[in-house]
Amino acid sequence: MRKAIVIGGGIGGLAAAAALVQRGWQVEVLERAPEFTEVGAGISVWPNALRALDVLGLGDPVRERAVLSGQAGIKDSDGRWLSRMDTAEVESRFGSVVMLHRAELLDVLRAAVPPEALRSGVEVHQARPDGVVLHSDGESRADLVVGADDIRSAVRTSAWSSSPAPRYAGYTAWRMITEPIEIGDSGESWGRGERFGYAALPDGRVYCFAVANAPEAGPRTGLAELRRRFASWHAPIPSLLDATREESVLHHDLYEMPPLRSYVKGRIALVGDAAHAMTPNLGQGACQALEDAVVLAETAPDLASYDQKRRPRTQRIAALSRRMGMVAQWSSAPAVALRNTALRLAPKSAAFRSLEPVLNWRG
Ligand SMILES: Cc1cc2nc3c(=O)[nH]c(=O)nc-3n(C[C@H](O)[C@H](O)[C@H](O)COP(=O)(O)OP(=O)(O)OC[C@H]3O[C@@H](n4cnc5c(N)ncnc54)[C@H](O)[C@@H]3O)c2cc1C
Repeated sequence: MRKAIVIGGGIGGLAAAAALVQRGWQVEVLERAPEFTEVGAGISVWPNALRALDVLGLGDPVRERAVLSGQAGIKDSDGRWLSRMDTAEVESRFGSVVMLHRAELLDVLRAAVPPEALRSGVEVHQARPDGVVLHSDGESRADLVVGADDIRSAVRTSAWSSSPAPRYAGYTAWRMITEPIEIGDSGESWGRGERFGYAALPDGRVYCFAVANAPEAGPRTGLAELRRRFASWHAPIPSLLDATREESVLHHDLYEMPPLRSYVKGRIALVGDAAHAMTPNLGQGACQALEDAVVLAETAPDLASYDQKRRPRTQRIAALSRRMGMVAQWSSAPAVALRNTALRLAPKSAAFRSLEPVLNWRG
């Protein structure tokens, strides 16, 4: 039986493991954390990723948890709609959009991998194109090595001699989950160089995120900074901040990977953020990792074919996400006024057209 070692037990790694097991591979997942778990934040799973999950037989268990409903879109900081979409219309064109807790998505993926394949507390130091992996428990060898170990991938840095360093996006992000609270709609609100977004989770809590232009590696901040920036924004943002506990606030700078020339080397294939970490403006990072996983299992061991199918698409989406982030983070008053007017006037069909190539993926 062919053997694969998957390095990293996040969304991309577990999905790759599940997809490879489904195709008859013997799989071992090496995860450096003591447990297979995810940060306390929400995640949007778009129709393209749900189709990838369908291939694994996991689309419905995810849809059952939390299909997004009602109005969604972009507002200004006073709460006026700049661009509005009815989620029912998105669903009828592309399929459902799901918003759920990351840990729940990870649970669904983990349940699709045999427990004996999961090894936590094992940190990988080096992966070689001949299939040898050096880690904190010794050495392993496989026909296929999957690098799913995040933007600072040890697999990529050890096997790709000229791998570029991750690039700071120019803005920093906070994520948090509130106590249960009623909200009417979901989406994000754009100000000048700052944004705030929210969406209800199935249990009545609300996943929120905030983004602000900032120098790299500034001080880590929490609720006081979020209140300073957003307490005067439209409802329900002040109430969402009031319903947030300090310890639930996560604050990280945002990075992306400059485009790699190849996602494969010898027996190694990169998936997810190790290959193409992107800014979160389109909510597609994990969705692309799910697509990667399915295509990798379909094509392996023909890794050239995997690279050919995945690199152009993921790099295009990363570039689109970067461009959207640049516009969303504009801070000069005239530019913001112009942007907001353009968004207000743009026909709904334009937004659907721009989403189509991303959301209509069918493998
Ligand atoms: C603010 C923010 C919001 C986002 N929102 C969305 C969204 O709504 N929708 C969406 O699709 N995407 C979103 N993303 C992107 C998404 O989080 C990532 O693209 C996704 O988590 C990547 O999955 P991954 O499996 O590649 O990496 P990760 O989830 O980072 O998992 C990597 C795993 O590898 C392990 N690991 C690392 N190094 C080693 C090592 N040396 N040895 C062993 N194990 C190792 C780590 O412990 C970790 O468990 C967002 C990102 C951010 C920052």
